[in-house]
Amino acid sequence: MGREIHMLLFPFFAHGHAIPTVDMAKLFASRGVKTTIVTTPVNASFFSNTIQRSKDSGIHIDVQLLKFPAAEVGLPEGFESVDMLPTSPDENFGMMMKFLQAVQLLQEPFEELLQECKPDCLVADLFFPWATDAANKLGIPRLVFHGTSYFSLCVTECMRLYEPHKNVQSDSEPFLVPNLPGDIELTRSQLPDSMKQDAETHFTKIVKAAKEAELKSHGVVVNSFYELEANYADYYRNVLGKKAWHVGPVSLCNRATIDKAERGKKSAIDEHECLKWLDSKQPNSVLYICFGSMACFTSAQLKEIAMGLEASELQFIWVVRKQKNDNEDEEWLPEGFEKRTEGKGLIIRGWAPQVLILDHEAVGGFVTHCGWNSTLEGVCAGVPMVTWPTFAEQFYNEKLVTRVLKIGVEVGARKWVRLVGDFVKREAIEKAVTELMKGDEADEMRNRAKALAEAAKKAIEKGGSSHSDLHALIEEISLRSH
Ligand code: UDP
Repeated sequence: MGREIHMLLFPFFAHGHAIPTVDMAKLFASRGVKTTIVTTPVNASFFSNTIQRSKDSGIHIDVQLLKFPAAEVGLPEGFESVDMLPTSPDENFGMMMKFLQAVQLLQEPFEELLQECKPDCLVADLFFPWATDAANKLGIPRLVFHGTSYFSLCVTECMRLYEPHKNVQSDSEPFLVPNLPGDIELTRSQLPDSMKQDAETHFTKIVKAAKEAELKSHGVVVNSFYELEANYADYYRNVLGKKAWHVGPVSLCNRATIDKAERGKKSAIDEHECLKWLDSKQPNSVLYICFGSMACFTSAQLKEIAMGLEASELQFIWVVRKQKNDNEDEEWLPEGFEKRTEGKGLIIRGWAPQVLILDHEAVGGFVTHCGWNSTLEGVCAGVPMVTWPTFAEQFYNEKLVTRVLKIGVEVGARKWVRLVGDFVKREAIEKAVTELMKGDEADEMRNRAKALAEAAKKAIEKGGSSHSDLHALIEEISLRSH
């Protein structure tokens, strides 16, 4: 390889985007690439321990800070990450619009920083469309990071090109995603609002700008591995004609307990306590339930989950984003629930050490919202999943898990609803989790999931598909920068 190259990474201010970007930074830095992450002070605080541990092990990652212009748009000081916004959907939407305005204001300071750093390549999140022009001014390639699967990238592109949802009579009438391998069926109710709205909103403008920027960008970096979704990796690159490199699963770079436990935020449970609890359980006997960093269910839905879980009689770890609040009784928890499930179930209020839990042999199933990071972490752990998409591109990832990979059971969420998701009844929850954990079909799904986990590990080893793609990407940037 030629002289040392410098990669600059700019993740969006949400855990689902920052967590994999920090892992990606570790991958670049461990290959001898000078690596810098650009972020804001509060966001940097979420991963400063990770960066320090990495440095202690000889892998240096530089962090450059931009001031987040919260006050300029009327947001409270320190609101620098989307998971800090209010959880009620209406309030959240208004604040989110302000948040995106603040992000827009970062364009100028970011360009100045880029001019100073003069990296050889910029990996910037999809939500910073203006990053492409900034990179072009400097004559360096910009790569887009969407933080999702090849499969979802393909579905999104086919939906944009062919608009099949415009030819159905109702929101519940299924249609095929045209030209996509695998006969993938969707309904209009599963599509993001931004795709269904004809009127232009601040959000649809960003989506449009992101698409235009992507077309002018050098390529795309994908957190996935070839063997997981070969047909779609090929389709994306060969049929849709995109230049893309897959470098994942990036979470596999975390090998030590502390690195698996502390990703994104400090856990609400001590990792040793959590491991001790899991150690006392039989292999594949515990169900892990978590809906990522954004989704926030209503009290009625949480109660329904509790009832469904109790009826299933399964052992579980259930992560609930709602905090215990002294002013509010926990009306979502059925009377006596924790007493009745003592020893059998563990509720984590707040942030869970997800990868640590998933990787434990006692965990035999995962109820997930199908955020791409969680989905891929489930694959890496070799666990089958109950799929419960709520919003974003999660309904697409669900199809990959259940219809293509056949390692999951759909809980039956039918409607895309921002933050809170579609309401799912206790009976459906009980049925899905039971199907996932017990019986011959469950064993078959688990076997397929375990085989994919093995393939994931191979992909990041020397000679593996992701290892080679990362090498090819570094080589290309290195050659360009001479
Ligand atoms: N995560 C975690 N603990 C939690 C919730 C989430 O470690 O209690 C991590 C999870 O491992 C994943 C990320 O946060 O890496 C969530 O990303 P995902 O794409 O699954 O969902 P999003 O939060 O973007 O909806």
